[in-house]
Amino acid sequence: MAEETIFSKIIRNEIPADVVYQDDLVTAFRDINPRAPSHILIIPNKLIPTVNDIEGEDEAALGRMFTVARKLAADEGIAEDGYRLIMNCNNHGGQEVYHIHMHLVGGRPLGPMLI
Ligand code: C5P
Repeated sequence: MAEETIFSKIIRNEIPADVVYQDDLVTAFRDINPRAPSHILIIPNKLIPTVNDIEGEDEAALGRMFTVARKLAADEGIAEDGYRLIMNCNNHGGQEVYHIHMHLVGGRPLGPMLI
């Protein structure tokens, strides 16, 4: 059993977070340390520690993460200018919280992706 992170508490509304969307499969909230005018994290309600742990049964939640990203980009008014979706995996990927999350980042030119 994977260990819960702070994101599970956000999903259950046990700690404060600026939640902008929630349904049966996913939750989205504003990043506490925004790196751009719009910086939202979209996460599955199910605890999946890393992208390496994704299973076939998770496809519905993962698909929902993208449709919610699209909706939130429109809500934020950044869809037309553009934005970036990022998922970090494990140490070399810079992952800090071991509950998979999609960063939706935009609201300013982000420049080339610096790997
Ligand atoms: O992809 P990575 O694991 O590095 O990103 C974790 C993100 O979670 C960070 O951008 C951090 O600011 C955010 N975070 C948050 N609220 C918390 C803890 C972390 O928004 N309570």
